[in-house]
Amino acid sequence: MKVLISRNIPDTTAVRLVEEGFDVITAEKGKIWTSEELINACQNVDFLLHRGGTVLDANFFLHCSHLKGVALTSVGYNHVDVAAATKACIPVSNTPDVLSDATADIALLLMLTVSRKAFFRANQVLRGEWKGSGATEDLGVELYRKTLGIFGLGRIGLALARRAKVIYGMEIIYYNRHRNVEAEREVDAVYVSFDELLERSDVISIHTNLSPETEDRFNAAAFRKMKKSAIFINTARGKIHNEVDLTEALASGDIWGAGLDVTNPEPMLPDNPLLNMPNVCVLPHIGSATMETRTKMAVMAANNLVAAKNGKRMPQVVNAEVYKMK
Ligand code: NAP
Repeated sequence: MKVLISRNIPDTTAVRLVEEGFDVITAEKGKIWTSEELINACQNVDFLLHRGGTVLDANFFLHCSHLKGVALTSVGYNHVDVAAATKACIPVSNTPDVLSDATADIALLLMLTVSRKAFFRANQVLRGEWKGSGATEDLGVELYRKTLGIFGLGRIGLALARRAKVIYGMEIIYYNRHRNVEAEREVDAVYVSFDELLERSDVISIHTNLSPETEDRFNAAAFRKMKKSAIFINTARGKIHNEVDLTEALASGDIWGAGLDVTNPEPMLPDNPLLNMPNVCVLPHIGSATMETRTKMAVMAANNLVAAKNGKRMPQVVNAEVYKMK
């Protein structure tokens, strides 16, 4: 059984796959695949271990319908046409939970960095413009006992809520399609309407998956409903906010600041006006980028492949329907 590892993973996981009897084909370090290259490379393999970057669309599954499984090393799978995979009877797995703490840490880091203008002030130092702290200029704001609004209180949202509550005593409000009773119990989260979330939050943090329902949800109309003192944080997917509208909302003072780990498009171009705004911090999609978390993600993906190779259900399958079709 052959597996193509399309983007590098820790060596220990590749070794484990060899020990499990896989013939492992690893892409060259840093390889960015075109769709056509990936389709061609998959012709002679049985499994694909894949991370974001190259989209696995209907055309991919049409030409790779022989695959016996696709293991993703991400929790988000908006880059995969899961319906097309299901149609081809190919199980697809993701890596939930193991990256929640690392990603919540990045959301918290962005909240703090933006609220204290730390990114902007550090950049001044880099440019030789050490200004120190004046009595009234360039002051930050504090997070203590403020209201954190979470759009998408699932695994990562809850991990952030725990931090915000313990460290800053923040009040947690949230909007999901369904109530999250566990989170309500654990962090006293209060379920509110989407409009109430916009109107009441001092910080709004995005943790939904990207879907037709969430795409462009944070647009000019949404930003206008937020407090002028509000901080907008997105560590989920860049397409959930409208970047032009966000830039205008910040420039016109409709909201106070923004912290982004995800942008639209990625990579963000270096001349993007957001990068020169004082109350903005942009990171290059590093939510899960720690040695510990990336290792756990690779191990989870490998376990899914081993299960599929042994004719078992992938533990983290996202299209379980395929098993009813077999
Ligand atoms: P999760 O546990 O599934 O949580 C997602 C939450 O969003 C759920 O509570 C869900 O609740 C809510 N939701 C979904 N659609 C919604 C809608 N239309 N309106 C309102 N709420 C909605 O997922 P997770 O593990 O926390 O991951 C969340 C996302 O983070 C991933 O999909 C991924 O895109 C992103 N992520 C980014 C990084 C990074 O490196 N920056 C790392 C990991 C993950 P309901 O179903 O009740 O609506």
